[in-house]
Amino acid sequence: MPELPEVETVVRGLRDEVVGRRFTHVSCHWPPQIVGLSPEAFASRLVGRCVEALNRRGKFIVFDLSEGALLIHLKMTGRLYVAARGEREEADRWLRAVFEMDDGRELRFSDLRKFGRLYLVSQASQVIGGLGPEPLSDDFTLDEFLARLARRRGMIKPLLLNQRFIAGIGNIYADEALWLARIDPRRRADTLKPHEAERLYHAIRTVLEDGIRYEGASVNWYRKADGATGSYQDHFNVYRRAGQPCSRCGASIHKIRVGQRGTHFCPTCQV
Ligand SMILES: [Zn+2]
Repeated sequence: MPELPEVETVVRGLRDEVVGRRFTHVSCHWPPQIVGLSPEAFASRLVGRCVEALNRRGKFIVFDLSEGALLIHLKMTGRLYVAARGEREEADRWLRAVFEMDDGRELRFSDLRKFGRLYLVSQASQVIGGLGPEPLSDDFTLDEFLARLARRRGMIKPLLLNQRFIAGIGNIYADEALWLARIDPRRRADTLKPHEAERLYHAIRTVLEDGIRYEGASVNWYRKADGATGSYQDHFNVYRRAGQPCSRCGASIHKIRVGQRGTHFCPTCQV
């Protein structure tokens, strides 16, 4: 699933293409992906609205419109890209929605597995209001992280995946951050010592910033808005490296299940 760096990369790739554009026609080919509205209402309400800003919050893509907001969650296999009308793209095979724009081009939403979701709401907060802090924002301070951790008794890895605890982290960046912080993914959150929690705080920001710098990890489905792959997968230390040597200590990377999720870690240097 695309995580914060992948969604951020898609948003950066699309921003100049869609901000300032007005939707002239919208068609939806897979109505269940639209939350809370009939496909007819979704399409007709969007027509005539302008995109005033395009941003990311957690793993959500947020279009601020001249009236209301359009939010898209890519989930497993969603892709969002712009193409000229009539131009064929590989991802069109799984096309679910087409947003025609006033410059003659189209914003297209493709989704093989159909888990992606589209929301048209009057306020974006109706969808994203419950998300935890944005880990790369200035508001997300070490003190804030320590205070949030201290109240939690569950294992640290599932907590990092909890979007209400912290927004935008998924399986890849949780595993990579815990490796960088030298913390066993099964540790109870409230047992982390202050210096460990501080290491984790910095590790979270480091792996997410690296992910953005390398334009995301194309391990399976994720592509940038222009269809090209990201390259963070070339810089993994643990994710999908089970059986390979840890780059820090040389021990073999293990894969286990933690909170129902495949989890990669070094049993020697993560304690
Ligand atoms: Zn190691």
